[in-house]
Amino acid sequence: MVTNRTFTMIKPDATAKNHIGGILKMINDANFRIIAMKYTRLSKEQAGAFYAVHKERPFYGELVEYMSSGPIIAAILEKNNAVADFRTLIGATDPSKAAEGTIRKIYAESISANAVHGSDSDENAQIEGDFFFSLLERP
Ligand code: GDP
Repeated sequence: MVTNRTFTMIKPDATAKNHIGGILKMINDANFRIIAMKYTRLSKEQAGAFYAVHKERPFYGELVEYMSSGPIIAAILEKNNAVADFRTLIGATDPSKAAEGTIRKIYAESISANAVHGSDSDENAQIEGDFFFSLLERP
């Protein structure tokens, strides 16, 4: 099991507001190495598949609409303790509850449009990276 990688997306609200550079700088300054990255856009079907784990949640439809509403950046990041350290860097799901200095506190609009995704486990980091990147597209 990989323990030093996580997966992230810069979400449509943040790409629309030109926050890609600022967010990538915060990621670099926190000593994550970007080992794969792409700029793309999810169809509704793809967004629904990525978030299938949330299918029964009341916000699933809104989440799928939002995640397919504009371009995103998808990336695989490397660092010791990557999953936990990245969750600390991005802050709480709801930006109004996120700690000062976190990516979501600085850049997120709302609990739905919350600027970035970060995997919540090593297992999901692997699954989510595989969703976006073929073996040829990453080391
Ligand atoms: P995360 O791991 O911090 O991204 O949070 P979750 O895995 O719980 O939720 C996944 C994503 O669903 C979040 O990043 C939000 O974009 C969205 N989301 C979570 N909770 C809510 C909610 O209560 N309302 C809405 N509209 N979206 C939510």
